[in-house]
Amino acid sequence: MDSKVSKLINEQVNKEFYSAYLYLDFANYFASVGLDGFENWYKVQAQEEMDHAMLFYQYLHNNGEKVTLEAIAKPDIELKENIDPLKAGLEHEKYVTSLIHNIYEAAFSVKDFRTMQLLDWFVKEQGEEEKNADDMVTKFELFGSDPKGLYMLNSELAARVHSSPSLQL
Ligand code: MG
Repeated sequence: MDSKVSKLINEQVNKEFYSAYLYLDFANYFASVGLDGFENWYKVQAQEEMDHAMLFYQYLHNNGEKVTLEAIAKPDIELKENIDPLKAGLEHEKYVTSLIHNIYEAAFSVKDFRTMQLLDWFVKEQGEEEKNADDMVTKFELFGSDPKGLYMLNSELAARVHSSPSLQL
């Protein structure tokens, strides 16, 4: 595998674990304010991010590449209001999309079609992640300021369950 592509995927393993850590911090915030449905939603999100990290980890190993595990950064987004994690989540997913696109560009430039095929799944996944994060902001802006609306929204988010990624390596 091209060394730049391999390096970027290796970094992405770390970035996905950071995403998990960030979303666990959001869950942690919502636990502290008693919104257990929001807490659940972000705990499931954190599990999804670990799935993403493991897909990249496995892909490198399947292609005979070494994986180097670096330190995971501390989540340092200041969370003061209930809307803050939702907005930060949307911004973060846009950033992750740019990282995936960056790896895609590197794979494309060296005609690494296998990695491009892997990344096709992630490109689609990022479209879904951005939509989900955007929906969270919209729903909160519509219903979050009303106690009954917030209660209903919290109940809806409590129902989310983790499922394994559709991509199998
Ligand atoms: Mg991810």
